[in-house]
Amino acid sequence: MSHHDEPYFPSSQPCLSYWQRTTRHWSRLTSGANESVPQTADVVIIGSGLSGALVAYELLYNPSPPSNVVMLEAREVCSGATARHAGHCRPDAYRGYSAYSAKHGSEQAIKILRHEKRVLQLMKTFIETHGIDCDFNYSKTVDVIMSQHFLEYVKRSYSDFDAAGGDLSDVTWLESEEAQKITRVSGALGAVEWTAATLHSVKLCQGILDMAMDLGLAIFANTTAQSVTMVRDGLWNVESSRGTITTPTVVHATNAYASSLLPFLGSIIQPLRAQAHAVIPTQAFTGQSLLTQTYSIRYSLVDFYSVAQRPRDGLIILGGANEEIQRDRLNWPDDCSVNKSIASNAIERLRSALSEWKEEAEGEGLQYGWTGILGMTPDSVPLIGAVPSLPVGHTLRLIQ
Ligand SMILES: Cc1cc2nc3c(=O)[nH]c(=O)nc-3n(C[C@H](O)[C@H](O)[C@H](O)COP(=O)(O)OP(=O)(O)OC[C@H]3O[C@@H](n4cnc5c(N)ncnc54)[C@H](O)[C@@H]3O)c2cc1C
Repeated sequence: MSHHDEPYFPSSQPCLSYWQRTTRHWSRLTSGANESVPQTADVVIIGSGLSGALVAYELLYNPSPPSNVVMLEAREVCSGATARHAGHCRPDAYRGYSAYSAKHGSEQAIKILRHEKRVLQLMKTFIETHGIDCDFNYSKTVDVIMSQHFLEYVKRSYSDFDAAGGDLSDVTWLESEEAQKITRVSGALGAVEWTAATLHSVKLCQGILDMAMDLGLAIFANTTAQSVTMVRDGLWNVESSRGTITTPTVVHATNAYASSLLPFLGSIIQPLRAQAHAVIPTQAFTGQSLLTQTYSIRYSLVDFYSVAQRPRDGLIILGGANEEIQRDRLNWPDDCSVNKSIASNAIERLRSALSEWKEEAEGEGLQYGWTGILGMTPDSVPLIGAVPSLPVGHTLRLIQ
């Protein structure tokens, strides 16, 4: 059972991430917020993050699209985890193999990793094809190895993946000296490099929603779906804070909040809070000296800091996880507040990892942090497809 016994809906006054602070001019941010919802729709999508946005676009960009598609969003449009992430579009290149194969077997583990790689290429093609200005930066990323224990784990995962026939053609090992030189992280015991990207996910999501709205999507912001009940076989009533919609098809793109409307998912989808930060670099990391790769500076599997410097403005997005974050994650899933101790620990770790960082001038260093709620599954893969035990037509799409 989930430790959350009551249904939990997105909190009404969430803190703002960097991605949100830089996109508040978007004219569709509060679309339909004061209107009543229609009484009927062909499709109702609940949630306006990347999952909901892509579903809407795929449905409408179709030779025979549904004639009316409605999207309900409890808060501002695109304000869930998509608006709160740490900037990475970073496939798992090899490291997850050990954990995935233990849970799903070798064949599935290889497929999961292959799929992650494919998603990066699909994202790249999609963004380029549609010309979405979302600061997409296709670059190299590195796992920077900071402990002997983690070095051994990584080596084992790498060689097991290799022995199982996994594709390592894009993966490069860097020994300690080279790793320190290339990453500028003192103390690196080694590094592993592969292809990934960074992006501004809110700009991406807004770009997709713009295209979907141009094709007829109606969005209702500040409109919480409160329940989904069956009227009769194949027909649903979506009750919301702005009226009830009757529809044959419901798409749950609610991520961490899924079990509020589908309570039996409470034991499967666990809401977990994570935190990221905006950091202005010191002079040594500006201009010609920006970091050229993105990093996961890793002390262990559960103790790491993600570092993604944006070529567009030099800002560093600093995310991560450690024991303190694990404890913080047990908090009620509210993304209104920021844990100051996690923020100061993260910036301290960044300062100590990058020996060129030096003393920060006024205006440099940690600017602010934000939190977001992830939807975690016990088998570490997303739950996508028809909702088990419900008639087909009632569709579930969730991304972890
Ligand atoms: C701090 C942090 C860092 C992360 N870093 C990365 C990263 O670097 N790279 C990466 O790939 N992923 C990262 N993630 C994960 C990634 O952000 C999510 O997996 C992804 O954005 C999920 O998209 P989604 O559309 O499924 O869900 P969301 O974006 O969460 O969208 C769900 C939406 O549904 C709405 N909603 C929920 N319930 C209701 C309801 N009853 N009625 C109406 N609306 C409702 C919510 O308000 C929300 O807008 C991070 C997440 C966090 C929190």
